[in-house]
Amino acid sequence: MRNIYMTDELEEIRHQVETFVEREVVPNGDQWEEDGLIPRELLEKMGSLGMFSLRVPEARGGLGMGEIASVVFAEALATSTFAGFEITALVHTDLAMPHLLRSGTPEQHDRVLPAVMLGETIMALAITEPDAGSDVAGIRTSAVKDGDGYRLNGSKLYITNGVYGDLVVVAARTDPSERYGLSMFLVESDREGFAVSKKLDKHGWRSSDTAELTFTDCWIPQENLLGTEHRGFYEIMKNFQNERLILGAMAVGAAQKGIELALQWTQQRAAFGGTLYDKQTIRHRLAMHQAHVDAGRAALYHAAWLAENGVDATKEVSAMKAFTGEMVNDVLYDCLQFHGGMGYMRESPIERMVRDARILSIGGGATEVMLEEVAKRSML
Ligand SMILES: Cc1cc2nc3c(=O)[nH]c(=O)nc-3n(C[C@H](O)[C@H](O)[C@H](O)COP(=O)(O)OP(=O)(O)OC[C@H]3O[C@@H](n4cnc5c(N)ncnc54)[C@H](O)[C@@H]3O)c2cc1C
Repeated sequence: MRNIYMTDELEEIRHQVETFVEREVVPNGDQWEEDGLIPRELLEKMGSLGMFSLRVPEARGGLGMGEIASVVFAEALATSTFAGFEITALVHTDLAMPHLLRSGTPEQHDRVLPAVMLGETIMALAITEPDAGSDVAGIRTSAVKDGDGYRLNGSKLYITNGVYGDLVVVAARTDPSERYGLSMFLVESDREGFAVSKKLDKHGWRSSDTAELTFTDCWIPQENLLGTEHRGFYEIMKNFQNERLILGAMAVGAAQKGIELALQWTQQRAAFGGTLYDKQTIRHRLAMHQAHVDAGRAALYHAAWLAENGVDATKEVSAMKAFTGEMVNDVLYDCLQFHGGMGYMRESPIERMVRDARILSIGGGATEVMLEEVAKRSML
């Protein structure tokens, strides 16, 4: 049955993205996992089809849509089973780009948005540092006023699109006397003093690139300051809501796809005079997992609807992120279990999906951090 938040336009987007994924991603994803990156041509194709413009205001040539469209887009990408591909696109559209769209000046929009929408410029978001992950206020990368600009020094860790991206939204400390004294900057990857110090090897999301970045006396002109000086911490917190909706959508999408794969497998796998699906214990566990996926999806769209309608949905988004990040790992654990030995083989998508899902309860707000956000608001 159609989700009550869906419209004909959203259905059309979902259908287009799923068709694209089936034709262009599924046949090539294994190779990209080997390569550790998504080809630029694919990202440019997505850009030319308008997939990177859903949230861009109509006045700027986009569709001017809201959080629900982002969630639909992320869920549709998840039908690919290649979460490394999904996060490459979603960091661009929904983690980094919101900073540019919300805080960017008309001059910055004129300068970079056209190429960003077309996927010719790929964006990254650099917040995390070796000593500042969940505790964003611990950021040490500094940006010190120098002439008509700032000089950046410091390092960033685990940055998606860090190796192959072109334009990085960087959080740096501009007011050392204030715990929350951060600012955001647009940093082009070819700027002197900006280096990819390491391409990181990871457990999952292997087709996405993840890097450690270093800034050594990297000079940034004043016109690359994004938003208001010293207000970056609050901009990060605002945009975290969108990021968490996206990670929730990836979790719901992956869990749904895992159940589909487990259904296909168990319905054709012969055992003990029938199929595995004939065993009530398997049917019932899959049915309970489907109930959890449905609950996660309801929480996801509800939180997206609140955010889209201007309601402070921090509690709902945090609860949904905590729930879906754990749920996808529980669901995929059993989906692999029901594949037996085949589920443990690299050739089986469920094996990759289990590895990819592990980050969903850690990245963009670990479960424990999300639960604290809920507890703070529930106990008042
Ligand atoms: C593959 C990958 C891609 C990423 N991409 C990006 C990116 O593009 N840009 C970016 O800026 N960052 C990125 N990150 C960073 C990611 O968001 C952080 O790893 C995450 O926020 C957790 O921070 P941390 O790793 O420093 O863990 P820590 O903050 O050290 O936390 C470790 C663990 O401690 C627990 N914990 C933390 N705080 C609390 C608390 N208050 N109460 C109770 N328990 C707590 C949680 O279990 C948590 O998992 C990425 C990470 C990975 C692995």
